[in-house]
Amino acid sequence: MEDKRYCRKCLLKDFDEEQYRSLIKKELDWMDTEMRAPDDIYARRLRICGDCEKLNQGTCAACGCYVELRAAARKASCPHKKW
Ligand code: SF4
Repeated sequence: MEDKRYCRKCLLKDFDEEQYRSLIKKELDWMDTEMRAPDDIYARRLRICGDCEKLNQGTCAACGCYVELRAAARKASCPHKKW
């Protein structure tokens, strides 16, 4: 399988949906397990983000982060204290 590299300065508009998913998955795979939130907490956080009015195409309008990456970090928190 080809190991594609991505430029950190690329814009989302330059990614197709599959590339975007692949990039997020790759970032999650790279995250150190000690830094990661447990699976049940991660799932709960994403459910909350999924119902939040700030969610916009995978990013949080309050902080600009990719919610799937923010929620995966053990010590992260929601900027609106929803989780
Ligand atoms: S991180 Fe907080 S404010 Fe942002 S989308 Fe998730 S729940 Fe909403």
